[in-house]
Amino acid sequence: MGVLDEKPHRIGRGQNRCSNCGLPQDRVATLEQEWVLLEPDMRPLAHTVPADHRWLELSDGRVTVYGVCPPDQFQRCRIEHRLACPQQARPDLWPWLTSLREENERQAQRQSTPEPPRLPPEEWPDAG
Ligand SMILES: [Zn+2]
Repeated sequence: MGVLDEKPHRIGRGQNRCSNCGLPQDRVATLEQEWVLLEPDMRPLAHTVPADHRWLELSDGRVTVYGVCPPDQFQRCRIEHRLACPQQARPDLWPWLTSLREENERQAQRQSTPEPPRLPPEEWPDAG
């Protein structure tokens, strides 16, 4: 049988920031030797996501579109950040995606609000 004797090599992956909203997104290799930018820390149940937007994580770290219909009830999947990006005007494809985008919008706002300068007490302006 064709056992692959090729050593598992690290599939390059990383995080970068969305150029639209500034939130982090995971850069993951696909089976098609391309890259897809996925929403980090999101593993919804596959059946809650339309078939052509489900990305299935494979054991080697790559992802592929999970078009099985109906999906395994317990299968989790990932979705692309661009669908959840609050700065991209896209149709709301399914109900919880709308909430996710609202949550991302709040996060992006928190991130872009400059922190008020915090001075240690001895440097507080003298009120007297
Ligand atoms: Zn974005």
